[in-house]
Amino acid sequence: MGQIIRGKLAADAISEELTKKVEILKTKGISPKLTIVRVGTNPSDLAYERGALKRCESIGILTEVKELDENISQSDFILELEKINNDKAVNGILIFRPFPKQLDESVIKYVIAPEKDVDCFSPVNVAKVMENDETGFAPCTPSAVMEILKYYDVPMKGKKAVVVGRSMVVGKPVSMLLLNENATVTICHSKTQDMPDVCSEADILVVGIGRAKMIDSKYVKDGAVVIDVGINVDENGNMCGDVDTDDCKDKALMITPVPSGVGSVTTSILAKHVVKACLLQNSI
Ligand code: NAP
Repeated sequence: MGQIIRGKLAADAISEELTKKVEILKTKGISPKLTIVRVGTNPSDLAYERGALKRCESIGILTEVKELDENISQSDFILELEKINNDKAVNGILIFRPFPKQLDESVIKYVIAPEKDVDCFSPVNVAKVMENDETGFAPCTPSAVMEILKYYDVPMKGKKAVVVGRSMVVGKPVSMLLLNENATVTICHSKTQDMPDVCSEADILVVGIGRAKMIDSKYVKDGAVVIDVGINVDENGNMCGDVDTDDCKDKALMITPVPSGVGSVTTSILAKHVVKACLLQNSI
């Protein structure tokens, strides 16, 4: 039977290291700070926000939530964002998306200061992920996937990685991060033919499609490492991933569960990015 690899151990290891870094920064009079920008009161935003605040505060990172009215105009939103961009006490900004329809993401993504953009909203950071420029910020969820692979010492160099899904928040960036680690990467999507055949070539299979338990054992090679990014609700109302864990766990060498897998590492990555932003902004 394959090993179920939970995110908590990786998340705790990151938090422990960050707590030490933040303590040292505080002795120099520097306190890393995250500002979360939330428009309205979407329950999934609120749930993520609670986790992010708890994680950051436990590490010693200062936090602030800017809650904006869900009817805020584009010009008022941009004014608020520019204020946060210009606030020297703020090192990292996380903006919840998608926006209500009066806010134009394609404009706003050029407004957020790239050096404070800790979840890769700005096209500058998207380009830095492509260029493997380590001064940038990859999105937190794909970074959490990479952190789990590294924590469990999964070899990536020269290995075949298949990523299922090509969104800008999961599939495309995780593909680039795997390529940056010298994996040979194939990307599947809804038009891919013979997907079980393509996936069952993978040494590392990363799935982010939003289809409850779609990936079963016929997509998995014996001894593969399977990372499930999906968050769905199954027929019984329980949270589940895109991978049918029970069906795949005997074939896989390692497999992440849902819940308690990738999702539990994401807020630690957010905290890591805030500290990194703070270090870069202070030329440390
Ligand atoms: P998305 O924007 O809807 O993209 C889904 C991708 O999956 C698309 O590229 C789509 O292909 C592909 N796809 C859909 N059905 C497919 C199928 N039957 N076969 C092959 N490919 C298929 O979703 P997302 O934002 O990337 O999120 C993906 C999953 O990750 C969701 O379950 C989401 O809840 C979860 N998620 C988790 C976290 C976390 O922290 N763990 C964070 C973000 C998202 P096309 O491009 O061809 O349409």
